This record gives sequence, structure tokens and C-alpha cells, in this order.
Amino acid sequence: RGKSEGRNVYRFFEPGMDAMVRERQVLETDLEAALPRREFELDFQPIMNIASGDIVGAEALMRWRSPARGLVAPDDFIPAAEETGLIVQLGDWALRKACTAAAGWPHAMRIAVNVSAVQLKSGTFTRSVISALAFSGVPADRLELEITETVLMDESDTVLKTLSQLRDLGIRIALDDFGTGYSSLGYLRRFPVDKIKIDRSFIRDMDNRDTAAIVRTVIGLGAQLGITVTAEGVETEAQLDMLREAGCVEAQGYLIGVPSKAADINRLLRSAAALRQSG
Ligand code: C2E
Ligand code: MG
Ligand code: MG
Ligand code: MG
Repeated sequence: RGKSEGRNVYRFFEPGMDAMVRERQVLETDLEAALPRREFELDFQPIMNIASGDIVGAEALMRWRSPARGLVAPDDFIPAAEETGLIVQLGDWALRKACTAAAGWPHAMRIAVNVSAVQLKSGTFTRSVISALAFSGVPADRLELEITETVLMDESDTVLKTLSQLRDLGIRIALDDFGTGYSSLGYLRRFPVDKIKIDRSFIRDMDNRDTAAIVRTVIGLGAQLGITVTAEGVETEAQLDMLREAGCVEAQGYLIGVPSKAADINRLLRSAAALRQSG
């Protein structure tokens, strides 16, 4: 048994794996060079309060404009940046850039920034956050840090301690992609968060009766716990109507706005303000 299995495993690792490993190494080398070359960009996606229709915040989403590869999505380079540790520097850059953009927004607008577990474990993250806030002049309560459930899965004390420090500073913590982890409810007990972002896979399937029931339950859970609930990936009026009826607080998705350059978000905010003034 062992012999034939061994041969299969050997064959599996042989040429294919080699190419994959090499490709990953090239990606990691390219990524290291990309930061000093200023190849990274941030887009901003608006977040709407469903009851008022106001834009109450925006999420910063990273992109890599690589001369060799074209525009690379975060899912295709963040894991590599986490593996090499580059995410610590890259994350610091994103925080500073996002806060600087938000400094020019109306004061009620929040800025949401995604944070990886590697950053929270670095031991220098709280300092980076304080520095980004001071540099930009954005008050702590306008910054929201989005973590995924995998961050809370981490057993290390550093992560929970860092999160508490940040929360004590007045920074808000959002649980991203809620519902996709192994123990979504368990994590809510492990660390008190300010916001739940329902993963877009649930919103996409909301025309399914059972999925709709789950979404409504999470919205009710948020209300019971005093946690803001945001629906991710809202693409249709029908979805927004259902979320409104269920009492969901915020919505984010292509229906409200696609991720856009900072200048375009500023334009959107100015025209919204002008509309309010004239109306
Ligand atoms: P996320 O934080 O859950 O961000 C939401 C993702 O859903 C974004 O993908 C956004 O473009 C996409 N999206 C928003 N509305 C819709 C919609 O209506 N329909 C559909 N189909 N998609 C929608 P994106 O920009 O590709 O980012 C993917 C993930 O990469 C993010 O998921 C986040 O986990 C990670 N990421 C992005 N920027 C950063 C960053 O600066 N640092 C870290 N650590 N991770 C980041
Ligand atoms: Mg996010
Ligand atoms: Mg998400
Ligand atoms: Mg995601």
C-alpha cells in the first residue's frame, strides 16, 4: 500500500508543484519590489445607512497595478504578502493612505480598513494605527478596522490584547465576512466587536427562503447585542428592500457604489451635500 501511494505522491509533487513553487517565489519577489515602486493603490467603496440613505463611510480596498501582470486583485496577492511578512509594511501604507483620504471627508463619515492577522500579531500594529491617525488628523472614532473570523481563531494573546488596546482608543472593530467561519457565534463571545458584516454569499442567495431566514436572524442578533449590522455585496433593489424590512442598519455593494478612486468618492460626497442643501 505504502509503496504505490508513495509513488503517486512523488508524481504529484514532481513537475506541477515545482512550477507552482517557482511561480509563488516570483510573485513574492515582485511584491517586495512593488512597494518602493508605488505600484499599490486604494479604492474606496461607499457604505450607506439604509434608513436615511446617507453615505456614512467607505471601505478601503487594495489593488496592485503591476506593470507585468496588470491590475491584480487583493485575493491574488494578500496571501503572498502575509507569507513574506510584507503585509505589515503594506498594511501600514494602506492605513496611512486611507486615513489621509478620509481627512477630507465630512466628519460623520467613517473609514474602514482591512487588517490581516499577521499585522495584529506583529506587536507594532497599535503604534502604526496611532501614527496614521496623528499623521492624518482623523479622530479614532472615525476609523473602523475590519478583521475576519480567522483573526479571532488565532490562539495568541497578542491578537486579543492588540484588539482591546485599539478598542480602548475608540477605534471600532468590524467582523468581516460574517457567517463564513467555523464558529461565527463563538467569536462574538471571544471578542466584543462593534460591527458585523454579513458575507456577500448570504446576500446573493437571499431569494432562498432559508438563507433569508439566516440573514434576518443575524440582523436580529446584531440588534440584541447592540452591534451594527452591514450587509455586503448588495447588488439589487430587491435585496435592499428585504434588508430594509429586516431592519439591517447598513448596506454596501455595487447597487450603492462600486469601489472607486478617492477623487470619485469626494465628488459623490460633494454632490450629495449639494443635494441636501438645495432640498
Ligand atoms: P472584503 O473586505 O470582504 O471586501 C469586499 C469585497 O467584495 C471587495 O473585493 C469588493 O470589491 C467586493 N464587492 C463589494 N461589493 C460587491 C458586490 O456588490 N458584488 C460583488 N460580487 N463583489 C462586491 P476586493 O476588493 O477584491 O477585496 C477582496 C478581499 O481582499 C477583501 O474582502 C479583503 O478581505 C481583502 N483586502 C482588500 N484590501 C485589503 C487590505 O488593504 N488589507 C488586507 N489585509 N486585506 C484586504
Ligand atoms: Mg472588508
Ligand atoms: Mg467581506
Ligand atoms: Mg472578503
